[in-house]
Amino acid sequence: MLNIGCHLSVTQGYAHMVKEALSIGANTFQFFTRNPRGGKAKALDDADVAAFNALVKQHGFAPMVAHAPYTLNPCSDTEKTRAFAMMAMEEDLARMERLPGNYYNFHPGSHVGQGVEAGIAMITAQLNALLKPGMSTLVLLETMAGKGSEVGGTFEELRAIMDNVTLSDKLGVCLDTCHVYDAGYDIVNDLDGVIAEFDRIIGLSRLYAIHLNDSKNPFSSHKDRHEKIGEGSLGIEAIRRVINHDKLRHLPFLLETPNEIEGYAAEIKLLRSLSE
Ligand code: FE
Ligand code: FE
Ligand code: ZN
Repeated sequence: MLNIGCHLSVTQGYAHMVKEALSIGANTFQFFTRNPRGGKAKALDDADVAAFNALVKQHGFAPMVAHAPYTLNPCSDTEKTRAFAMMAMEEDLARMERLPGNYYNFHPGSHVGQGVEAGIAMITAQLNALLKPGMSTLVLLETMAGKGSEVGGTFEELRAIMDNVTLSDKLGVCLDTCHVYDAGYDIVNDLDGVIAEFDRIIGLSRLYAIHLNDSKNPFSSHKDRHEKIGEGSLGIEAIRRVINHDKLRHLPFLLETPNEIEGYAAEIKLLRSLSE
């Protein structure tokens, strides 16, 4: 069975998201750990957390993905932004232990002119400070479009981060289909080649989740603008091949397309009908 879901809002609580996911035919989902632009996280409610954990178990959900705020940048050139990145990730990872066995995805960061190597050093320093042997949460680096000074627009950069992290078994990758296509990996014309390249550089065993998005921009545009499934430069055939690929089909697929809940429900229905 295809493990598919979409981005949901946590504003009405964690258990509510599971019910919303069920109502649109999803068996996984993604949510922001806090306001995506930054700010403070709301305290977790014990009863809500217990209900969330019971519901996902009862309905056999695939692992869920918590997404760090976009403002989290471990390799900023300002001390204050780096301190926020450290504080927010530490707090988020502590909260995630109360929703055990799920994933925490983050954008590696933007080096803002300090250079890729310096960026990678700061990202790995933060991960080495925060990853703990007993953690049940897996931290995922997201493949990026390579917009501006983003780190993680190539598989080699992600590999370099992983190589420098001591507890690297706590670290994996989430592949975003819009981002990799924007970054110059041609998953439309050569999906097998891109997957082989991922395997050679990073290792497919380190791939834990897929952000399933179409793209508003042409191949290798380094822009990062998501489009609805089948309405962008990837197109429905390429997306059908992604969800059915032997090396990918077991993973959780999360939609981050520009949709309200009805649009997500329709995309999930379409993708289930295309799943072989
Ligand atoms: Fe993301
Ligand atoms: Fe994404
Ligand atoms: Zn994106």
